[in-house]
Amino acid sequence: MYPYCLTLDISIKKAFRSAYFLLIHFIPFLTYAQVSMDSPMDKIAFSTERRIKSPLDTAGFIIVNEIQQLNPKETAIIICDMWNRHWCKGATARVAEMTPRLNEVITAARSKGMLIVHAPSDCIDYYKGHPARKRVLKYSSKKYEKRIDNSILDSEKDAVWPIDQSDEGCDDAIKCQLVKFSKKEIEGLLIDEEKDAISDSGAEMAALFDKKGIKNVILTGVHTNMCIIGRTFGLRSMVRLGKNVMLMRDMTDAMYNSKMHPVVNHFTGVSFMVEYIEKYVCPTILSTDLLGGKQFRFSEDKRPLVAFITAEGEYRSNQRLPEFADDLMLHHGLNCEFAIGKPAMDGPGRNNIENLQILNDADLAVFFTRRVALEPQKMELVKKYVERGKPVLGIRTASHSFSPNDDVLNEKVNPGQTKESAAGFLSRWIEFDRDVLGGNYQGHYPVANDLIKIDIVPGMENHPLLKNIPVGGFSSPCTLYKNRPLSSPNDQVLLMGSISGQLPEPVLWTNTTANNNKVIYTSLGHPEDWKNDAFHNLMINSVNYLLGSENIKR
Ligand SMILES: [Zn+2]
Repeated sequence: MYPYCLTLDISIKKAFRSAYFLLIHFIPFLTYAQVSMDSPMDKIAFSTERRIKSPLDTAGFIIVNEIQQLNPKETAIIICDMWNRHWCKGATARVAEMTPRLNEVITAARSKGMLIVHAPSDCIDYYKGHPARKRVLKYSSKKYEKRIDNSILDSEKDAVWPIDQSDEGCDDAIKCQLVKFSKKEIEGLLIDEEKDAISDSGAEMAALFDKKGIKNVILTGVHTNMCIIGRTFGLRSMVRLGKNVMLMRDMTDAMYNSKMHPVVNHFTGVSFMVEYIEKYVCPTILSTDLLGGKQFRFSEDKRPLVAFITAEGEYRSNQRLPEFADDLMLHHGLNCEFAIGKPAMDGPGRNNIENLQILNDADLAVFFTRRVALEPQKMELVKKYVERGKPVLGIRTASHSFSPNDDVLNEKVNPGQTKESAAGFLSRWIEFDRDVLGGNYQGHYPVANDLIKIDIVPGMENHPLLKNIPVGGFSSPCTLYKNRPLSSPNDQVLLMGSISGQLPEPVLWTNTTANNNKVIYTSLGHPEDWKNDAFHNLMINSVNYLLGSENIKR
């Protein structure tokens, strides 16, 4: 028996166990063990994000991360339609804003040995005689032409296109005229005559890639909902050619008019297109994989950023949080990003969370994490976020987020390390519960047959967090966590939970830390809780409360 018990009721626990078996064995996560065997120094780790059908609920998707070690000599970056001038002024401005960072990306990639392909469609005549153009023409593309098929993929057949682009997607106040202005690629993207290629033809690129042994193709540039996905060298076509395809999701844009369906911020339109691609077409990566630092965001993208950190194997946070994030993006004008750990209780790669750099510019962090140790520099990202006094929402297992039951050896750095050497250990943060959440987690009551009855603490009925929560309370299928007595003098309990034969326990409270972090923690968070309007409203209220106007970017 685990010293920490499984906390779901028996029937659902069984279903989850088989789901995790599926997750761990049939979904292609690369474990660290696999990575360390085939990752000589010259490979580059890309942290890919994808959404796959939930094994438990086929209408749903779970968000997953896979670390791919790519050989740069087998990898190409295609720069799609980064024209000097687009017919739409807004689109032209965004291309210009993205250009310096994209040039850094291709400079770093080229220096590591990747092939850079400049693909300014319909402007190829401008490059007649250019050495980078001649490099492509050396190889016959005739036999490849019949292999090019950029129609929609089978995987997209039942998919719903997320945005209405029937007006061509100009998002400017004064609508631009659909006139071709593009003559060439934008100046800021340097073309290396000795190494790069220029082409706007999928067949030419297929020939070139075969000759150069290119297996991995990364798409960058514009626009996700048009050329990125649909050109003959676009995502669909490259997937059909059998390439290992990825979209660099912070080096792209969409043609989307925010007045059209689903009537959201322009950048939310981009987010929904990226999500579509992750569900139905291919995984995505970030420029940070090559450059480090923060991912690129457009200066006009003023949406407050919610960083969701999901790393637990019991409560389907890798499905429920993305569903919640869609709601926040669609109805509340927020931007949502994910840092993802393996949805497993144990096993290789379990003590890792990818994409934590989103905490560098997050306005709110939502933790649904369980007993994860991290590499020290990753733990530092979490600690720095908290030190900045930023708000925190902790859900359920977050009380033991960074409290593995024992010291954890760093399997990635030192697979054979003995316990005598502290250098081989990962970082824990056991005090996270006490010092940040204001909690005092001591396990939970045994699995009971009855639901937890949740009641509002008398006098708290008008608290903004409890807006649209029934005055008579609600119920939850969770097991009840023991948290009495809470640890912070600033804790304000709003909801109590009771089961028969036990004293009630606090199940939702607010806290203010020594660093001035505004904090909300709830010990609820069962997958079924999210279907309950009361809990859903509670989570929406929590996000709004924590993103008080002082935290919202202007
Ligand atoms: Zn325009």
